[in-house]
Amino acid sequence: MKKPLITIIGSINMDLITNTTKFPLQGETVIGGFFKMLPGGKGANQAISASRLGGQVQFIGCVGDDQFGTELKKVLHDEGIHLRVKPVTGESSGVATIILSEGDNRIIVTPGANDCVDVNYLETLKEEILKSDLVLVQFEIPLQSIKYILELCHDNEIPLIVNPAPAKKLELEEWMRAAVITPNETEATELFGELKDFRKHPIAQKLVVTQGKEGAAYLENEMFNCIPTFSVDAIDTTGAGDTFNGALAVAMTEGQSLKEAIKFANGAAALSVQKLGAQSGMPTRKELEIFLK
Ligand code: ATP
Repeated sequence: MKKPLITIIGSINMDLITNTTKFPLQGETVIGGFFKMLPGGKGANQAISASRLGGQVQFIGCVGDDQFGTELKKVLHDEGIHLRVKPVTGESSGVATIILSEGDNRIIVTPGANDCVDVNYLETLKEEILKSDLVLVQFEIPLQSIKYILELCHDNEIPLIVNPAPAKKLELEEWMRAAVITPNETEATELFGELKDFRKHPIAQKLVVTQGKEGAAYLENEMFNCIPTFSVDAIDTTGAGDTFNGALAVAMTEGQSLKEAIKFANGAAALSVQKLGAQSGMPTRKELEIFLK
């Protein structure tokens, strides 16, 4: 039987991480400790999560015409993901410059080519998007593109998971076009108000609010219930939300109920936080099945 197609449209970045004992002041130079270069970006992370868990994944994004672009594409390709990634002439790849110092961080995100995932580009891939059994999108690409995807999926009855990270506001009728909306607690409060009032909100039935080590909440029998996750020794929670979203997409295309899909996604994310790095901690299907037994 043909596997359902999951299309993930979003960002792809190279994270440049350096640590130091002291953040430099204006005009100051300090000597750093280690330096690491790790592939990231919410879109790419979620694509890897879904692919490792057995999903057939198509990824749509843009990179720059630079060395990072070539490397970032190779990472996704090696994970078995079908790439619709355009190298944009004269543009840099998306980059996150991260300075770590004694548990604190300072980050500059340069969207670069991620801003080129615009409506014109998506129009050229419309036929490919329409082949999808489910689409998953985050907010690290232009907002106009999100609106276009919401409309396209809604008009063609393709279920769409919207992960509104980072939080950006949409009109109610636009949110209503999504099948599932997956903010974390901070994003949910910023976009939709207080958690205790969610059940009265018109989009309540679409909400899955991730709540860190508590798990994820959704509306069940008119109550907002948290499906608890597994208690694990978390080493690095970077990318936990991305693992969750990729897993949720796979479970939904397999016909699991929302509750079952949340349990599956909780399990995948609980495994991912036990390893350092966003992508390196994401489990394979086999690892997750053993964990959930
Ligand atoms: P991030 O930005 O760190 O990727 P997020 O803020 O988008 O994460 P969270 O709500 O923190 O999202 O976490 C997403 C999911 O990851 C949770 O719903 C839960 O399933 C899992 N998770 C996060 N932290 C932990 C933890 N410490 N232990 C177990 N599971 C966790």
